[in-house]
Amino acid sequence: MLNLIIFGPPGSGKGTQSARIVEKYKLTHLSTGDLFREEMEKNTPLGQEVRKYIDQGLLVPDEIALRELYSRASEHMDSPGFIFDGFPRTIVQAEALDQMLNEREIPICLVISVEVDREELFKRIIGRGEDSGRSDDSEDIIRRRLQVYEEQTLPLISYYKNQGKFVAINGMAHVDKVFAKICHAIDTYLETKKVVPEVE
Ligand code: AMP
Repeated sequence: MLNLIIFGPPGSGKGTQSARIVEKYKLTHLSTGDLFREEMEKNTPLGQEVRKYIDQGLLVPDEIALRELYSRASEHMDSPGFIFDGFPRTIVQAEALDQMLNEREIPICLVISVEVDREELFKRIIGRGEDSGRSDDSEDIIRRRLQVYEEQTLPLISYYKNQGKFVAINGMAHVDKVFAKICHAIDTYLETKKVVPEVE
């Protein structure tokens, strides 16, 4: 099973790259952000609960994110692999995910980090908010989301570096170029089981 995590701050292009990876490698896309947005659109009790956090740019509590992720993943255990997008976002989530996958002997293979500098991120998310109408893409909320990312999600870099699974990809280039670099890292892993730590 090819299990990947696509990692990066809001606006790094994770969603776009995930869609391409899913198509090429036939993986199941698990995005907790998409899942929560669906629930908010349908205005379900879960949607109402998570909206309180999302609209403020805060993380949804770990137990909710974990429960929903597990429930979605367990529907697709026959898949050739998963791409986790926007999950894990905290060390607690990462440890729980490792436990779940290791018990099933289907561990994470690679953590692909799409790296984009802060100024560019800001420009991209503001632009996206104008197009998408996402309730959490306003300027104040973006600042909060980037701060939450730095405080709660960045520690995952060392967590996965210590496991020798972390691949840094320069995400400032054109989407096609970024995708080519990601494919290079995945194909190298599939052929040699080696992790390329950095693709410039
Ligand atoms: P995203 O589309 O991945 O940027 O997610 C949008 C929002 O959903 C985030 O700003 C969080 O409020 C919430 N969210 C998504 N995934 C998680 C997660 N794994 N843990 C906690 N909150 C999450």
